Amino acid sequence: MKALVFDGKLRFLDDYPQPRRSRGEVLIRVALAGICKTDIEIIKGYMGFTGILGHEFVGTVVESDNPNLTGRRVVGEINCPCGNCDLCRQGLGKHCPNRTVLGIHGRDGAFAELTVLPEQNLHIVPDGVSNEEAVFVEPLAAAFQILEQVNIERDMKVAVIGDGKLGILVAQALSSAGCSPIVLGHHVSKMKLLRNLGIATCLSEACDMANFDFVVECSGSPGGLEKAVQIVKPCGTIVLKSTIAARQSLDLSALVVNEISLIGSRCGPFRRALDALKRGEVAVRPLIWKTFDLADGVRAVEEATSPKALKVLLKIE
Ligand SMILES: [Zn+2]
Ligand SMILES: [Zn+2]
Repeated sequence: MKALVFDGKLRFLDDYPQPRRSRGEVLIRVALAGICKTDIEIIKGYMGFTGILGHEFVGTVVESDNPNLTGRRVVGEINCPCGNCDLCRQGLGKHCPNRTVLGIHGRDGAFAELTVLPEQNLHIVPDGVSNEEAVFVEPLAAAFQILEQVNIERDMKVAVIGDGKLGILVAQALSSAGCSPIVLGHHVSKMKLLRNLGIATCLSEACDMANFDFVVECSGSPGGLEKAVQIVKPCGTIVLKSTIAARQSLDLSALVVNEISLIGSRCGPFRRALDALKRGEVAVRPLIWKTFDLADGVRAVEEATSPKALKVLLKIE
C-alpha cells in the first residue's frame, strides 16, 4: 500500500506491507489526514519514532469484529493502552507505560491507505460533520482537554501564547465555554484569521504585563514557557500544550516565588470535539492551508514546516 514513512528520512513508499488487525482491532481505510507539529518534531528526533507517521485522520472502517462498524465513517483516539496495568485499571489508559500511540510510538500511523486501531478507540463521525472538519477532531480534543483539567471562570483573564493551529483551536475551545481569551502571536495573517473568528489578539512583544489568571502555552517554541512565566499573575496557572524536541532551560525560581501552578496537558475528549463541530461552535475550515495527495507527502510536510502555514492535509482516498 501507499504510505509516508519516516526511518531517519521521510519517504513515500507504494509497496509498504498492508497492516493486519488483531482481535478487537479495526482496519480503517484512511480518507484524509492532517500533518501536525508533532509529526514535524518526530522528524527532528522527538520520541525516536520510526514507521508510518500520522495521528490525525478520518476514514472508513473496512474490517472489524463488529459488523455494525463496517462502512462507518470514524475518527480514532491515538493512545492504545495495554488494559492490564495499574494505570489502565484506574482509567488512566492514556498514561499506560506499555501503550502504543498511533504514528508516534510503537504503532504505524495514518499517513497510509490503511491503518489499524482498537475498536474502543473509535468514534463515529455524525452525518453533519464533513471529512474536512472531522480530520481536526484529534487536535481539537486536545484543545478541549484544558477545560477537563482546570476550571476557568468567565471573568478570568486568559492568554493563549501562539497563533498557530493549536493556539487557534485552543482559543476557540475556550471561547465556546464562555471565556474571552486573548491570543499572543507573531503572524499578521493568523491574527487576522483569529479576529475574524471574534477572538482578541495582541502582538506577543506588546504584551508583557503579569496580569493573566491563566496562560495556555501553544507556541511550539522553546521561548513560549518563558513568555508564559512573564505574563502570568502571582498564584496563576500555566497550561503547557507544546511538545517539542528541543530541551528547555529556564529559571524556575519565578514559579516558586510567585506560586504558579504548571499543568501539562495532552490528548483530550473526542466526543466533546465532535459535538462542538456538529453544533458549529468551532470553525476549523479556515485553518486548512493546502491539501496534497499522499504521493506528494514529502512536499506536504515541507510545506507544513513553513512558518506561514496552517493545517496541511493529505488526501488519501
Ligand atoms: Zn497532533
Ligand atoms: Zn496499561
